[in-house]
Amino acid sequence: MAEDPETFIHEVTERLRTLHIQFSGAMWQSATTGTEQAAQREKDTKAELMRFWADKQLYETAKELHETSTTDDPLQRRTLKRIYLSSSKAQQDEATIEAITNLETEAQRCFYNFRALVDGKSISDNEVENILRTSRDSAVVRQVWEASKRIGEEVADHVRELAHLRNKSARAQGFRDHFQRSLVLNEIEEAHLAALFTELEKASRKPFLRLKKRIDRIRAEHFSIDAADLRPWHYGDRFFQRAPELSKVPLDPYFADRDPVELALETYDGMDIDVRGILDRSDLYPREGKDQHAFCIDIDREGDVRTLNNLEPSHRWTSILLHELGHAVYDEHIDPKLPWILRTPPHPLSTEAIALLMQTQTYDHTWLSSVLGIKDDEAARLSSAAVEQQRAQRLVFTRWALVMTDFERALYADPDRDLDTLWWDLVEKYQALQRPENRSAPDWAAKYHIALTPVYYHSYEIGHLVTSQLQAFLIGQMGARLGQPEVGQWLIENYFRPGASQDWASHVESVTGEALNPKYFVDTIQ
Ligand SMILES: [Zn+2]
Repeated sequence: MAEDPETFIHEVTERLRTLHIQFSGAMWQSATTGTEQAAQREKDTKAELMRFWADKQLYETAKELHETSTTDDPLQRRTLKRIYLSSSKAQQDEATIEAITNLETEAQRCFYNFRALVDGKSISDNEVENILRTSRDSAVVRQVWEASKRIGEEVADHVRELAHLRNKSARAQGFRDHFQRSLVLNEIEEAHLAALFTELEKASRKPFLRLKKRIDRIRAEHFSIDAADLRPWHYGDRFFQRAPELSKVPLDPYFADRDPVELALETYDGMDIDVRGILDRSDLYPREGKDQHAFCIDIDREGDVRTLNNLEPSHRWTSILLHELGHAVYDEHIDPKLPWILRTPPHPLSTEAIALLMQTQTYDHTWLSSVLGIKDDEAARLSSAAVEQQRAQRLVFTRWALVMTDFERALYADPDRDLDTLWWDLVEKYQALQRPENRSAPDWAAKYHIALTPVYYHSYEIGHLVTSQLQAFLIGQMGARLGQPEVGQWLIENYFRPGASQDWASHVESVTGEALNPKYFVDTIQ
């Protein structure tokens, strides 16, 4: 590898671009066809990408150039840093790579194949969630909830071993543990995160406890039991990460004969952002053998941005389409003149914040009346109920994110400690749930992210904070509503175009004129 920064960046870019386009094409093929051949190709191209970043020579050159760079070209400095961070995350010796890959593959296989067994019948995650949300029978929800936790027993040992292995390679690089390494290499300062989450805990405690009382009343009535007898299986999902319905907001009837694509076009046209090209390249409707979720992918960072959806005329799928198009318009409007390596959002949380922002429009009074055509007074009523549900959702999710983040910090500090007890201590502390009597099981390991998307959960929460800060800026500083042309243009120029030329925190600061400030989010949950 060359020592001259410009040549080095050029060489890395050329190889990376090829591997990236190969992988993203293969991923798209696999998600849209579901064939075994396509899945194999996705796996192979992903492995090639991983091997590229794991290369020790590449890492050492990147580290040296990043640390010794004296250039006054900020884009070159930033590009070197991005290469250094990406290769640093991938540094592990051959044996560790193999051990981690095997354990992760095995854990993933367990999660994919796991079906809760209820009365000898196996049921899918969707069915589990449906029963927990709708059943009025305590015995049934308890049985289903307990059955859904068995996956924890299957993977707990794998997760502990993974934590040891991840720690081992983190320590080889001089980090305290994997928790710290992950934060540092994703440009999140550990002390800042801790202070931020302490502040969120304090600010959310009282409003959450008030909300929780109300939820307890609703759930106790729903099950015809005493509130004192409520246990974690009574809250409508496996982890109490979503707020149960506070009152029925009947939005779906209004979407029953409306094409989500037309609604999305109208929404984005209103902001003067043309999404026709993206929609043309996208795979929009359900089909046999196709991935049942939704995502957005930037195939080449040269304009080929696509989304995958499974649209049907409903509120849910309209809001998902607005969400995915939020990711897509961001990717599409990153300055094409930036170095290829910087043609991406600075951090996943930066693009998630935009997707969340776009998605909130379906709850907006003006959107409901102007795009959906609901009569004004009715739109106001629907919107205020929806906004109340959103507030509850933010509170419930924040308390859940506190559990996840504290737990992961403790897991990597000591993977062998009594994690079963710690998990329920945190759930009681933050979510105010009553732990089940005499339960001794690795319920923490039943959460997919702990095994397979480690040290990432805090990003979702920070994404919400950025969304609120942007919303406050738009209303306060620009006096503008989201669905207006000047807002679209402002987002493109200020938020999208800079790509990854800054780290995510500096980006928030230069866009809104203020460093990340949880106040705006906190204001929405009081
Ligand atoms: Zn998203």
